[in-house]
Amino acid sequence: MHSNQMKNCMKQILITSFLIITNFFIFSQNIELSLQEKIKIKASIFIKNINVITMDSNYVHYHFDVLIKSGKIISIQKSDNKTIPPKNAIVINGENKFLIPGLIDCHSHFYDNDDRWLFVMNGITHTRVMSGTYEMLELKKEILYNKKIGPRLFVSSPILGQNELSDFEFVESIEDCLEIIQDCKSEGFDCLKIAGIDSLSYYKAIAKKCQQLKFKLVGHAPEASDTDLLIECKQFSSEHLMFFHIEKNDEMKKLSESNIWLCPTLTAYTEVPHAKKEWSSIPEYKYVHTNLLKQWSKYPQEYIANSNDLYTLKKLWQHGAKIVAGTDCRVEWVVPGFSIHSELSNMVKYGLSEFAALQTATSNAAAMLEIDSNNGKVKSGFDANLIILDKNPLEKIENTKTINSVIINGLLLENKDLEQIGLYVANKRNKL
Ligand SMILES: [Zn+2]
Repeated sequence: MHSNQMKNCMKQILITSFLIITNFFIFSQNIELSLQEKIKIKASIFIKNINVITMDSNYVHYHFDVLIKSGKIISIQKSDNKTIPPKNAIVINGENKFLIPGLIDCHSHFYDNDDRWLFVMNGITHTRVMSGTYEMLELKKEILYNKKIGPRLFVSSPILGQNELSDFEFVESIEDCLEIIQDCKSEGFDCLKIAGIDSLSYYKAIAKKCQQLKFKLVGHAPEASDTDLLIECKQFSSEHLMFFHIEKNDEMKKLSESNIWLCPTLTAYTEVPHAKKEWSSIPEYKYVHTNLLKQWSKYPQEYIANSNDLYTLKKLWQHGAKIVAGTDCRVEWVVPGFSIHSELSNMVKYGLSEFAALQTATSNAAAMLEIDSNNGKVKSGFDANLIILDKNPLEKIENTKTINSVIINGLLLENKDLEQIGLYVANKRNKL
């Protein structure tokens, strides 16, 4: 190569790199703003001729027109070629596509605020954060008041426990415990999360205080507890299949008939065959912060589910237990957002039907979060938290991954927006 050619070539490389870097910078600065602009426009959305899975029944309603305005589903009507979309509405051709409610991850942990994008790009419109912080309470408000885009958050207290799992430094006495509970309730956390409580007397005292304050008790009951004690203590939700403490069939029936919500977090206990291999080759890991991946690769998975667990979940479901989908994302190898699709797939592998699996992340989850009067189903008057899929998830649950567009709190994010969001997170997390 001549020196002039070489110079030109170098110049070209420099200009291109400059453009890439500036574009990235501008894009990072503006992603929130540019998407926020879309909210301000507040255009109506008219989805034409789509197949609707309302979640009222295991049935697909073929060829319907859905009108969305100001964040609400206004109407769902049989599609008619003569229907004229409202003026200024964004019209989406829903032909051969499927409309389902936005998904809900009932057990999540955040690495940082950018995790919200991973939920959004995977169609998660609500999540229950299970190790709350004051920062999360702040983010909850910002999302609620449309200052930030993200899934609506339900935030548990920081974890209260008697051992190293606890987020509180040292819980010296029952009195300390009760004071912490009172503070958490006053600060606005949505529920009290316990883990690592060893003593049954502590557990009973905590439960009593929660009942007095009308504060939901969630998390891991002490290892020595049994179903009767959980029911007596009005445990609101019990997390992780292996903490359900059920060995006998009659216990299973009792737990299924109780009011306790069960969140088995199957994905966290599914063997990750590639965990020990080169993780950089797994597509969704590009959205995980490099430091976190390094941490993950140091630890083997804590527990792998066995055939007995599979049997347990199927039996619980057959007994009519109140099961919700939660992924425990952010624990080793469980990537926020993406993991909800693995969880649904696991629900089916463990014996639930496709419809029942979908219920765990939509209508059941909305009922647990007590938002089922306007979320968790596709219905007129409900909030516009929806996903447009290319394929039918009731035929194959993995089709929840075929996301075409997400509508979150009335904001339409099309494929290109979702791709931009992904690019933004991947770039940010691999460059810091
Ligand atoms: Zn957890």
